Amino acid sequence: MISKYETVIGLEVHVQLTTDTKIFCGCSTRFGEAPNSQTCPVCLGLPGALPVLNKKVVDFAILTGLATNCRIAPRSIFARKNYFYPDLPKGYQISQYELPICEHGRLDIETEEGGPKSIGITRIHMEEDAGKSMHGETPETANSSLVDLNRACTPLLEIVSEPDMRSADEAIAYLKKLHQIVVYLGVCDGSMEQGSFRCDANVSVRPHGQARFGTRAEIKNINSFRFIKQAIEYEVERQVDLIEDGGHVVQETRLFDPDTGMTRSMRSKEEAHDYRYFPDPDLVPLVIKEDWIERVRTRMPELPEAKMERFMRDYKIPAYDAEVLTADRLLAEYYDACVKLHGGGKVCANWVMGEVTRGFNEQGIAIADCPVTPEMLAGMLKRIDDNTISGKIAKKVFDAMWSTGKDADTIIEEQGLKQVTDTGAIEAMVDEILAANPDQVEEFRGGKEKVLGFFVGQVMKASKGKANPGMVNELLRKKLQG
Ligand SMILES: [Zn+2]
Repeated sequence: MISKYETVIGLEVHVQLTTDTKIFCGCSTRFGEAPNSQTCPVCLGLPGALPVLNKKVVDFAILTGLATNCRIAPRSIFARKNYFYPDLPKGYQISQYELPICEHGRLDIETEEGGPKSIGITRIHMEEDAGKSMHGETPETANSSLVDLNRACTPLLEIVSEPDMRSADEAIAYLKKLHQIVVYLGVCDGSMEQGSFRCDANVSVRPHGQARFGTRAEIKNINSFRFIKQAIEYEVERQVDLIEDGGHVVQETRLFDPDTGMTRSMRSKEEAHDYRYFPDPDLVPLVIKEDWIERVRTRMPELPEAKMERFMRDYKIPAYDAEVLTADRLLAEYYDACVKLHGGGKVCANWVMGEVTRGFNEQGIAIADCPVTPEMLAGMLKRIDDNTISGKIAKKVFDAMWSTGKDADTIIEEQGLKQVTDTGAIEAMVDEILAANPDQVEEFRGGKEKVLGFFVGQVMKASKGKANPGMVNELLRKKLQG
């Protein structure tokens, strides 16, 4: 059914940066340490403590801005965003408001209908994260609320898009692309479970053809691609139903509940905070000169799109393969290393997308922990090339490399997997099989060529898969036709 309504979506993404230390102090940002063990007067918000900007956060913001086609502001300002919350000891969050570090960017996505679409990026700004409140989560603290300020002052980038997306699928395409870029850049670990990459979605609907936007609802803090899609789809349906029933959408903040798949109201516009932003007097304006931007630009890694194009051009692999292989930076690097060692673009792609990826999925291990290194895979592929092993035996060698961590040559030697290429030995097996199956020999000679496959299978079985298949074929034909 074609809806009378058009969906309008804008996204705000919070990206937690991978710097070792916090944005305004030297405390560690490591995850999962004892509560409040990574704090100091600055991030505890003690009176008189002064923030000092971490230069690496600025580098990361510039890098992200460049990768998303933003203009880097020559001068930007930190502002105080005032609100009261128990996990915000200062009573304000240091953020950027009127003059953010990056503006006017864009990301191109592929739409469902095919073809690219440009999604505008309004701004990217730097800010500090708040701490974390815990409400009776252990038996000892059942009747108390505690606060852990390890996360307070952890650096974040907030990336705000234009309301350019028209479906949940477009929103997901944009988010996946943005996620891929920040992980490629190394500015974010990309973990959605740990909240390193989280999203607020502004969703509204309007009748097709209406220029004015509908009233929007903001859905807060959704932390998986699946939930974001569910939340948006639910919200669109809710708003359309509401309007169809003669009601109207109110501007409010809503929460998505993954258990019910629904969003529910958290606070209305009337209850919304007035943040009373003003420039933070403790921090001087941030001035970024052209040479700083250029220095950061030289550290720009190859981004997914460029990598995909290079793989297709230099390694002669199809677009589909290149897309799968570049979806993850580490997988792309693994593949790249294999091809550089072995030379065969397509054969390496087949193995990396096949056996290697299967290994990761089945055993749930990270690419960085892969027991088969690119050197080992390339080493094994060379043994197929020089006829030491067949492609079929190679699968067996691969599994053994995976489970033992030994290289292909050692496994081939230890398990006696060397391909039989000795004509005499193969001929003896061929003779034996032909002698044991006179009926099939007659069938073949009577014109039923398909029987050849049966003989090949029998000889391969007799050799435990080690006979060279090409030679088996050739000898069988010669004998059967002779
Ligand atoms: Zn600190």
